[in-house]
Amino acid sequence: MHYCDHNATSPLRPACRDAMAHALTIGGNPSAVHAAGRAARAVIEDARDAVARLVGAKSDQVIFTSGATESNALALAGAIEGALTEGDKPVRITRLFVSAIEHSSVLKSAQRLAERTAGLRFEILPVTADGVLDTEALRVALREGKGRTLVAVMAANNENGVIQPVAEISRLCREAGALLLVDAVTAAGKMELDFALCDYLTLSAHKMGGPQGSGALMLGDGVPFAPQLVGGSQQKGLRAGSENLSGIAGFGAAAKAVLANDGERARIAGLRDDFEKKLKAAIPGAVVFGENAPRLPNTSNAALPGVSGENIVIALDLDGVAVSSGSSCSSGKITPSHVLSAMGVDAALAGAALRVSFGWNSTAQDADAVVASLIRLNQRAHQRAAE
Ligand code: PMP
Repeated sequence: MHYCDHNATSPLRPACRDAMAHALTIGGNPSAVHAAGRAARAVIEDARDAVARLVGAKSDQVIFTSGATESNALALAGAIEGALTEGDKPVRITRLFVSAIEHSSVLKSAQRLAERTAGLRFEILPVTADGVLDTEALRVALREGKGRTLVAVMAANNENGVIQPVAEISRLCREAGALLLVDAVTAAGKMELDFALCDYLTLSAHKMGGPQGSGALMLGDGVPFAPQLVGGSQQKGLRAGSENLSGIAGFGAAAKAVLANDGERARIAGLRDDFEKKLKAAIPGAVVFGENAPRLPNTSNAALPGVSGENIVIALDLDGVAVSSGSSCSSGKITPSHVLSAMGVDAALAGAALRVSFGWNSTAQDADAVVASLIRLNQRAHQRAAE
């Protein structure tokens, strides 16, 4: 099989599998003081250190979670329900601004919080036709109205790989006294990340070759935060519950693999660029979304006009090629991607979108297999149209 769907899940790296298998043999609760407990604790702290280094954070800023859906929900609810104290006055967040291209775990959590929190104003921030946050709209929105604001913008988009101007967004937020949540799930391991620019940052192990069901929330020093899961005093009481030892061990191994940066990124960029070059040469009508913006090196979001995205996924699957149609989390639905809609792409073209995403074990054969399969599919579609 030619697996080209790393933005949905990147298959488990052998180093992660080994670290997980080892963790499963420890058999102690990391909170226990005996030798087995201490061995489990050592695994967690080693992973915490690697995950923190990945984004330039301190290890005591890392909270391990069950994945980025939980991390995003925890960051948003934790921030909104938490309070900052300035002098001796509690300051609450009263405005929540979320970019239109966020993952559904941010958009839906934010929407629900807005419905459930009296006095919380919720706004969706627009993006340009290239899929980049409209920073002028953010600047204006931050200037208008009163109250502390939380802004959520992802580091790079999971559907088209478009990189968001986090440094500029951070500057605008800091000038306005606003807090910033960055979903770095897709970006992690594919570009440099700097937690110093953010107040909250979320990660997911399985997008980096680690296991599914393991993620992290980075919490800036002194930011408002109310724990959502309470019980034991694990993770300083910020997220109660016995830690997922093997999941965290696998996450740590994935972070270390990425930090080793043995040329993986440049190799993957070569595959993606080659894929797009060959696709456009063979099918001149092919469109690549977000092409004019800075993008992650591994992602290509393309459309062959007249060939539906859902059909492409099925046809490619029959050829042994795995890609996804738009965001994998909304696959199976024919509704156009909210990301492409926000970029102003018309519904027919958005419906033809497919996402090809490469990763640590991708090869030139994989990229060529996608192109070959797309060429066959395009020929069949045009023959049918001519008949
Ligand atoms: N954010 C982004 C950008 C994602 O792509 C995903 C996964 N599709 C998530 C958050 C949710 O991550 P998880 O699968 O770990 O819950």
